[in-house]
Amino acid sequence: MSNESLANLLKEERRFAPPAELAAGANVTEAAYAQASEDRLGFWAEQARRLSWAVEPTETLDWSNPPFAKWFADGKLNVAYNCVDRHVEAGHGERVAIHFEGEPGDGRSITYAELKDEVSKAANALLELGVRKGDRVAVYLPMIPEAVVAMLACARIGATHSVVFGGFSADAVASRIQDADAKLVITADGGYRRGKPSALKPAIDEALAKCPEVEHVLVVRRTGQETSFTEGRDVWWHEITERQSSEHTPEALDAEHPLFILYTSGTTGKPKGILHTSGGYLTQASYTHHAVFDLKPETDVYWCTADIGWVTGHSYIVYGPLSNGATQVIYEGTPDTPHQGRFWEVVQKYGVTILYTAPTAIRTFMKWGDDIPAKFDLSSLRVLGSVGEPINPEAWVWYREHIGAGRAPIVDTWWQTETGAMMISPLPGVTETKPGSAQRPLPGIAATVVDDNGVEVPNGSGGYLVLTEPWPSMLRTIWGDDQRYLDTYWSRFGHGYDESDPAWRYFAGDGAKKDEDGDIWLLGRVDDVMLVSGHNISTTEVESALVGHPAVAESAVVGATDATTGQAIVAFVILRGNATDSEELVAELRNHVGKTLGPIAKPKQIKVVSELPKTRSGKIMRRLLRDIAEGREVGDTTTLADSSVMNVIQSQLPGGS
Ligand code: ATP
Ligand code: MG
Repeated sequence: MSNESLANLLKEERRFAPPAELAAGANVTEAAYAQASEDRLGFWAEQARRLSWAVEPTETLDWSNPPFAKWFADGKLNVAYNCVDRHVEAGHGERVAIHFEGEPGDGRSITYAELKDEVSKAANALLELGVRKGDRVAVYLPMIPEAVVAMLACARIGATHSVVFGGFSADAVASRIQDADAKLVITADGGYRRGKPSALKPAIDEALAKCPEVEHVLVVRRTGQETSFTEGRDVWWHEITERQSSEHTPEALDAEHPLFILYTSGTTGKPKGILHTSGGYLTQASYTHHAVFDLKPETDVYWCTADIGWVTGHSYIVYGPLSNGATQVIYEGTPDTPHQGRFWEVVQKYGVTILYTAPTAIRTFMKWGDDIPAKFDLSSLRVLGSVGEPINPEAWVWYREHIGAGRAPIVDTWWQTETGAMMISPLPGVTETKPGSAQRPLPGIAATVVDDNGVEVPNGSGGYLVLTEPWPSMLRTIWGDDQRYLDTYWSRFGHGYDESDPAWRYFAGDGAKKDEDGDIWLLGRVDDVMLVSGHNISTTEVESALVGHPAVAESAVVGATDATTGQAIVAFVILRGNATDSEELVAELRNHVGKTLGPIAKPKQIKVVSELPKTRSGKIMRRLLRDIAEGREVGDTTTLADSSVMNVIQSQLPGGS
């Protein structure tokens, strides 16, 4: 990319200072940045001491064999003990850990003392079924408390979990079970989605025909629907856990013991099995949850709306919040069942103070209308988080106004499955926020933006996001494929590319720019950046401009090969309820983009559709739209939330059936 790459097209001048009261009592202040930059490793060693260790580490980072890192390598701890037992031992056993809200409106609240009993029983059940330290366990569950219990039970005995989205097909499950070589699967009869029970077990039965290594299937009864059972292999969760002792001594494990494998969402290609280990991962998940959400465990009620099958569910439903002794809400279902105000009803019911969700959800709420959240009491909310995609400024401002009462700070958190925990984000009591920017690497994290040659760009320019120092929760490798780990992340810039360069640089795969203050703005995947008549234009900026028009609810932009301009901008848009598709509107939208970003960014084509292809974590799969725009057969759709969407879109386009 040239220096005018990812041209700084979008001007966003709005600024929001942190609320004075929050700033005055914040968990983390400006001083943390200085402390961490003076002594980065000392800073992380101090954060590691927020955890309880069976053997305190004396080493912080071992980077003697880069890019294979070891953090706190001579320390020993148990992750489940840190998330559960120690809170009970500290006298907080009666505190609610989980308020579970089922989609049909059922629910239960589980205290830390109860969670300790449930996790211990599940750990004993896994042992009875022959699972041992180092074995892999696949988890394929709906959003129910047993998902959390299952993950912690694995962590407690040192089994490595691999959680697979409850919505994936039998084939997707089978390939993940095979890749991780799991010997046990934990699933459920089904879960509730959109008002009815949706079966899960049949996908496991089908997948296991191809996975002869799996010895047992533990089945949680959630819906009570008719479920086939394979004698000798399948075991009901409630039957086996019921008869277990609630005593289980957590094993002290090496800091580098593998905690979990998780496959990325596959927006750019074949999913990668990302490996995370114990001590460093928990240190950063825990610290960032404490710092970025300003969590006060005595008074806050926290809610992360992610699915447990996504990394956000791992780090910010299970490990971060529970290690900090938080009280949180877990909601099973979809945001519009039985009505479009369901999320706000949940916030009101539990007095949620901290909400963490994704831009795709926020844009959906915008589309449904301001009057829906306005019917509920959202005054408890004090911090709002966003993750998963760049958040366009209009959605950011809507979130702040309509959900945060124009008062709650928004933390736009950039991170990846690979980074394990948040990396770039404002701090709610410190940062003057800018709509659409993740802004600043967190204390102890080193990130910057470089050009094609790996040279750091000056403020006001764009390029590629890189991480310039190892961090505690970094992936350790791609499961079973060290070479792919090296190739994917470390051989684009720095030492892995040019041996004369002593610095190792992690290539995140995302485009970014630094503004005049040096704050970072994420611009989407590098694969999604378009080259139009010699100018690099980011899909994110064109999408933001489109969503800034009152007729547009959502958009996805791709670059399609074009004989004259190299690439031409093709935009897919979903209109808001009150707008109708017409030639005039399309012309108006093109002009609107031209006015906002400059004539070069005007889409060549705008296609009005009713759906966009998204992964289960809500990310738009632009590569599939590029296939359509370039007239190819559409590629791998196994991680789409709804695979019929591609047919719907194709039928809505000229020439579609
Ligand atoms: P794959 O790597 O298989 O294509 P994926 O990258 O979609 O899958 P995840 O690890 O879940 O899988 O997503 C991480 C990516 O999400 C980041 O690289 C970035 O593109 C995007 N992202 C996450 N949070 C933000 C954010 N706050 N701002 C901008 N982009 C974000
Ligand atoms: Mg990725």
